[in-house]
Amino acid sequence: MSGANEESGEGRQAIRKLAPGKLVIASHNPGKVREITALLGAYGIEPVSAAELDLPEPEETGTTFVANAELKALQAADLSGLPALSDDSGLCVDALGGDPGIFSARWAGEAKDFDLAMRLVEDRLHEEPDLPRDAHFICALALAWPDGHVEWFEGRVDGTLVWPPRGDKGFGYDAMFLPVGGSETFGEMDPEAKHAISHRADAFRQLVAAVLA
Ligand code: IMP
Repeated sequence: MSGANEESGEGRQAIRKLAPGKLVIASHNPGKVREITALLGAYGIEPVSAAELDLPEPEETGTTFVANAELKALQAADLSGLPALSDDSGLCVDALGGDPGIFSARWAGEAKDFDLAMRLVEDRLHEEPDLPRDAHFICALALAWPDGHVEWFEGRVDGTLVWPPRGDKGFGYDAMFLPVGGSETFGEMDPEAKHAISHRADAFRQLVAAVLA
């Protein structure tokens, strides 16, 4: 699903292309910065992290992944004077009404303890008998320019949740997420294997086709 370019009175606006050069990665999550930098490698883009520029982390007040991605990218573009790319993502568990969803980071608490967050998910799945373990990750990418223009893209990967968690190669909820058709959790996969199928890769494919191709 891609949502770049809101309808205007005169019809769809043209998608804005991203010129080679510096791009702020508007995230303070080292796992995300690592994955986004790897995914951008081939396109003549020079990634600069929000941490390097000492940019503040805005409060995520949106009610959707896209809204939160947009506010992070717009703030970083405004403060840096450079185009900025943000990622808002999370794990959505069908039987939990989509939780933890946009609150995925917050379930890990101040200490960013994802062993705890995964256990909370598992405990909630045992509150009623036989709850299905289907889940998906969503990744919304927002690309903003200092003049306030934004393009956004949303990617998804479906899977099921395993317990106990398996593997330590990923971050966040990776160790309990088994993608559909796979035998390894995202936590057990090498980064290249995860990048080939992840929600972030799906959103990136859309972004590349729209603004970099
Ligand atoms: P936010 O987008 O900064 O609000 O945080 C999203 C949270 O969702 C991350 O801190 C992770 O816990 C989780 N998450 C997002 N993408 C992934 C992923 O690829 N693997 C595992 N967890 C993820």
